[in-house]
Amino acid sequence: MPPPPYMDLAFAAAEAAAARGEVPVGAVLVDPVAGRVLAAAGNRTEELCDPSAHAELLAIREACAARGQPRLPGCDLYVTLEPCALCAAAISFARLRRVYYGAYDPKGGAVDHGPRFFTQPTCHHAPEVYSGIGETRAGALLRDFFRDRR
Ligand SMILES: [Zn+2]
Repeated sequence: MPPPPYMDLAFAAAEAAAARGEVPVGAVLVDPVAGRVLAAAGNRTEELCDPSAHAELLAIREACAARGQPRLPGCDLYVTLEPCALCAAAISFARLRRVYYGAYDPKGGAVDHGPRFFTQPTCHHAPEVYSGIGETRAGALLRDFFRDRR
């Protein structure tokens, strides 16, 4: 398993999201062959008044637009929190190669919890999943954010 420096970029995007009053989740899309970051994004649901403006979705959209392609085969996503059902579906549709995620999300996650999207027979492309990457840091970021809001 590569020690992913890209996860640090995802954390930076999550911290920037928190500073904007968004739930602190950050995502980075990488082309591992070129060693290039295609997109980095944090949640923007409040700012865009869009319940689907999750970090993963925004990163996938940005990278697809930059490439002029509707799918990103061979590309990897780094995200600070376990993706939800919506994002898991987008990851599958985008044909991503790997997903590295930080904190587990037993309440809203859809990879290792809930619908376990990638294991369903209706899921036609499943990425390799590496979970718990920087889990402590990712969990602390979310805890601090919600504590400060109460
Ligand atoms: Zn999501």
